[in-house]
Amino acid sequence: MDDIRIRCPKCEWEPDGKPYWSCTCGHVWDTFSTGGRCPSCSKVWEDTECIDHAGGCGKTSPHLDWYEGLEDIVAQLKAEILERWHEGVAH
Ligand SMILES: [Zn+2]
Ligand SMILES: [Zn+2]
Repeated sequence: MDDIRIRCPKCEWEPDGKPYWSCTCGHVWDTFSTGGRCPSCSKVWEDTECIDHAGGCGKTSPHLDWYEGLEDIVAQLKAEILERWHEGVAH
């Protein structure tokens, strides 16, 4: 994972691993530790807000756009995240 950088696609703010994101269920966590899924209620957040009070721009971008790095590694990570989003979902 060392080759992947996570940053806001709009302002380059980098999350510092703190729990800035809150879910509609009331849970607060670091959305990048779970690939955008709430660990409490399993809701998937496909968009991620940039945290303005932590130095970000406050704008919302697609979660997957936050990942930057070697093309194939990022592509694999994104595929894994999408797989996790869709697993357990009834079709
Ligand atoms: Zn939740
Ligand atoms: Zn930003």
